[in-house]
Amino acid sequence: MVTAVYPGSFDPATYGHLDVISRASLCFDRVVVGVLHNSAKSPLFSVEERVNILKEAVKDLTNVEVKAFDGLSVNFARENGAQVIIRGLRAVTDFEYELQMAQTNRVLAPDVDTVFLTTSLEYAYLSSTIMKEVACFGGDIRKFAPEGITEALLKKIQEK
Ligand code: ADP
Repeated sequence: MVTAVYPGSFDPATYGHLDVISRASLCFDRVVVGVLHNSAKSPLFSVEERVNILKEAVKDLTNVEVKAFDGLSVNFARENGAQVIIRGLRAVTDFEYELQMAQTNRVLAPDVDTVFLTTSLEYAYLSSTIMKEVACFGGDIRKFAPEGITEALLKKIQEK
């Protein structure tokens, strides 16, 4: 039984994240999505909101769980009995940072491997940051995330 964790900020999740999660759910027996508290990045949504948004979006994937976490991804992996950390790669720009993180994590936890899933081409440009920027300026974000997420984002922006 191979468990994989997929750590990230998910502020909020996009179709790019959901694509990685659904593909990972086919590759691994169990996938635990880890939503990082990450106060350093001052997220738009609270960690509870980001977890609830993701839970709703992946509710049909029976081997996927969503949890909040704080601290190191390798510790989150160990706490969940995971042998694998999943990360998504969009473009060359992601690569340098992701390689450094994967190598650091391997030093910290030689028993946990990082597996990269390359983005589906239609989502290669997509990030939570881009989606939030477009939403702030009144653009149509329906191609970036499912309705539950786009509605939550528009509501959050109106409240701010
Ligand atoms: P972090 O702050 O850890 O980068 P993100 O929520 O931005 O958190 O991203 C989590 C993971 O999802 C990262 O590995 C990132 O590269 C990946 N990811 C983000 N957007 C996409 C996308 N459009 N396609 C594939 N992977 C993506």
